[in-house]
Parts: sequence; C-alpha cells; structure tokens
Amino acid sequence: RFITFEGGEGAGKSTQVRRLREKLAELGIEAVATREPGGSTGAEIMRHLILSGAAKPLGPLAEAALFAAARADHLDATIRPALARGAWVVCDRFADSTRAYQGVLGNIDPRLIAALEEVTVGDTRPDLTLILDIPAEEGLSRASARSGVAADRFESEGVGFHRRLREAFRALAENEPQRCVLIDARPDADTVAEAIWTAVQERLRP
Ligand code: C5P
Repeated sequence: RFITFEGGEGAGKSTQVRRLREKLAELGIEAVATREPGGSTGAEIMRHLILSGAAKPLGPLAEAALFAAARADHLDATIRPALARGAWVVCDRFADSTRAYQGVLGNIDPRLIAALEEVTVGDTRPDLTLILDIPAEEGLSRASARSGVAADRFESEGVGFHRRLREAFRALAENEPQRCVLIDARPDADTVAEAIWTAVQERLRP
C-alpha cells in the first residue's frame, strides 16, 4: 500500500507521517516513512540543491525536471523496493506537489507535468492521498514558529502564493475523490491523526 500526504507549508505533514507509521507498526505492519524532495541518497542531494537555493538560477522547466529526477531516484531506490517486499510506504509529498507547485504555481503546461509524471511514476500511483488542508495564514504562522527551520525560498513567498497553493490542493482533492481525502489540519495533532486513521481504515482496511 502506498499512501501520500500533501498540503501547504505548516499543515503538519511530517508529524502525521510519523504518527501513521507508528500506528501501522503497532498493528504489526511494516511501514516505510519517507519524503520528497528526497527519500533516497541521490534525491536527498537534489533536495539540498533545491532548498539551499543553489538551484535558484534554474527556470521553472529545469526545476520541474529536477523534481522529476529526484522522484525517479526515490521511486527506484526506496519506494518500489519497499512495496515489492510487502511494506507500506507513507510519503511526505509526492507527484501532487509537483502538480501544485510546478504546475499550477509555476505555470508549467499541465501536459508536460502529466508526461513527466507518466515516465517517473508509471504504475506506482498512490492508493490513498491525504491532503492536509489549513488556511494559508495559519499554516505560515505554524511554519515560521517551527524552531530551527529557516524560511526557505518557498516559505518566504507571500501569503497570496500560499492561498493559491491551498486552492490547487483542494482542486486536486475534488478532481480525484476516489484517491484523495481532504483532512482538516486545523485541530490539534491527535484529532488530525484520528481523522487520518479513519480515512485509512475506510479506504484501505489494514
Ligand atoms: O514538505 P517540505 O516543506 O519539507 O518541502 C520542502 C519545500 O519544497 C517546500 O517548501 C515546498 O514548497 C517545496 N516543494 C516544491 N515542489 C515540490 C515539492 C516541494 O516546490 N514538488
């Protein structure tokens, strides 16, 4: 089973990824928690390039290709081997982030985004995507309160950027209701974890 978490900054994805992995482990299910950009040795190098600002001179097309390269490595080195041995994979961001950030906000032609997705992801589609939904202002204030996390280039965009991002993720959830579940990420972490667990039980019957 392949589960992805999506959403804007400060929605609590990394906390919920960890909690879901722990919950599955309690049931005796091996779950690999991973993240994008990154999640494999090669893709973590690309993550560093992207988030440190070293890749800033890249235009949107080259940036989308870099995200695709990172995803290809992550799938080959981490995700597919885990799924092949019967583990569950719980991933913090995946192809929907590219649809939203590089596609909708980066203005890359959706046909190109779809083509990149086709060659990198292929048949390894998520069984369930949990979209953590939070108003842009709330997410941003949570993200900036996070200790030790310098506002990276994405977090330093204006609130308008994050409002559009939220709308992009909500539209994704609406377009693919059989795969996506929109989760209200405003309550405390326990409440959000419960809503996630309900969705996992309903959709995947672990
Ligand atoms: O999930 P996390 O906040 O660690 O993601 C790292 C950064 O990379 C985020 O600020 C996010 O905006 C950005 N990102 C992106 N395009 C993707 C995935 C992540 O711009 N496809």
